[in-house]
Amino acid sequence: MLGLMQSQPLLISLLIEFAERHHGSAEIVSRRVEGDLHRYTYKDAAHRSRQVAHALDSLKLGFSDRVATLAWNGYRHLELYYGVSGSGRVLHTINPRLHPDQIAWIANHAEDQVLCFDLSFLPLVQAVHGRCTSIKHYIALCDADKLPADSGIPNLLSYESWMGAQPTDYAWPIFDENTASSMCYTSGTTGNPKAALYSHRSTILHAYAAALPDVMCLSARDAILPVVPMFHVNAWGIPYSAALTGAKLVFPGPAMDGKSIYELIEAEKVTYAAGVPTVWQMLLTHMKPEGLKFSTLKRTVIGGSACPPAMVHAFQDGYGVEVLHAWGMTEMSPLGTLCTLKNKHLALSAQEQMKLRLKQGRAIFGVDMKIVDAAGKELPWDGKTYGELYVKGPWILREYYKGEGGDPLVDGWFPTGDVATIDADGFMQITDRSKDVIKSGGEWISSIDIENIAVAHPAVAMAACIGIAHPKWDERPIIAVVKRPGMNVSREELLKFYEGKTAKWQIPDDVVFVDAIPLGATGKMLKTRLRDLLKDYILPL
Ligand code: AMP
Repeated sequence: MLGLMQSQPLLISLLIEFAERHHGSAEIVSRRVEGDLHRYTYKDAAHRSRQVAHALDSLKLGFSDRVATLAWNGYRHLELYYGVSGSGRVLHTINPRLHPDQIAWIANHAEDQVLCFDLSFLPLVQAVHGRCTSIKHYIALCDADKLPADSGIPNLLSYESWMGAQPTDYAWPIFDENTASSMCYTSGTTGNPKAALYSHRSTILHAYAAALPDVMCLSARDAILPVVPMFHVNAWGIPYSAALTGAKLVFPGPAMDGKSIYELIEAEKVTYAAGVPTVWQMLLTHMKPEGLKFSTLKRTVIGGSACPPAMVHAFQDGYGVEVLHAWGMTEMSPLGTLCTLKNKHLALSAQEQMKLRLKQGRAIFGVDMKIVDAAGKELPWDGKTYGELYVKGPWILREYYKGEGGDPLVDGWFPTGDVATIDADGFMQITDRSKDVIKSGGEWISSIDIENIAVAHPAVAMAACIGIAHPKWDERPIIAVVKRPGMNVSREELLKFYEGKTAKWQIPDDVVFVDAIPLGATGKMLKTRLRDLLKDYILPL
């Protein structure tokens, strides 16, 4: 039909081009691995992203080839976000907290061709590079003079010598907006990690939605500090939404302790910060004894795990900082709900408002949600009935990369593995998790992996791993163990047995020896019953 609007593909390169033209002088400040602060502007970032695109061309990378990163939040990582995706390749952000075996597995599964890494991860790269069969190019995110001699890594280049001499102009290619732009593996599922593959279209739609006033509420007047890592679901999309709004960006690099974060917030006049509860716990713990206050911070978005009530109180009542409780998933780009009040809630008492604020929040336009019972029947939105939360929308996964795990959708809906209530105003609250995983400090621990290691010990007959609430890490794993008849193993021996078999932080905090683990009719371990049995258990802190 005649008379329609223009159809321009929604491509990530548009974001950096827009930021350069309209917010070219807005700053991007990064704490570097070297410890110093680096500052430049969106204009510089746009120039250097185009240099990265040229440098990738010079490696003869094809369309949709994967470029991996093992990097903190910083300006070079941002340039890769735009240079890699903008030129039609796929940015694969790898979580450096995973065990080296898992990192090698992921890099091979993604068939990464290039790995760009911060020098803090050199030992990790040295440990895995021999097993990463598809990676042809290793690039250290540093100046030429910082490149380590004799690293043992073949053809190692410094980022600056690789891209620094490339031209700063580049004609970003135009292609289908449904092309893959980036990917992120999640361990929040059973079995091997699976990857969510984001598209240009899903990323831009998510960036638009994230910036809305009732979502993250981002603007050109903000200075945003994403503490949430750029290797974890694209730092909740902030690198894209910041360019879309022209907000100043402040990157913490590797320094995420309370003191460093506080100093950065104050020095760079940060108005807005985003991260998981554990990071904010460290910040509050640093500030309280010293009687420190924020002079510019206005809002903080807290998600990835449930935000503890004491944290909302501490920010809002103690420091006058508004807490935006957010819920989402790697499979959802990640934003699903944000907790912001409606007009009618402004008349509620402070206590009633607080009750609402602790919920995970309302769906963003673009995210459809429903709760269902075990038979898949939709349940009412009464704030009491709970069921598994299903979602669908244009930035929600259709299937995992390479179709791993089969078709995850149920009648077109993605089952989140979270159990929730939804009230009449659409406020969703998570009450439980049906997936068998534990989240500690914002990162997943697979109960099954932890159990498999325990049962590999000759004296262990059966083992069940559950998460126990922890004041700093949100949850920590413990392992309940039934010993084989006539055999013995001590707590210490079993914990030692984990060393080298999983990442250190995934090793259980404790071993509890039990006579039996409750089983269901089909022989499946009943974790809910086990949790009940251990309800008086106190985690050794
Ligand atoms: P990830 O894919 O690592 O981002 O983890 C997503 C999962 O983290 C969700 O399915 C929830 O189980 C959990 N999660 C994320 N945000 C929250 C929140 N605000 N409250 C409770 N759980 C959360």
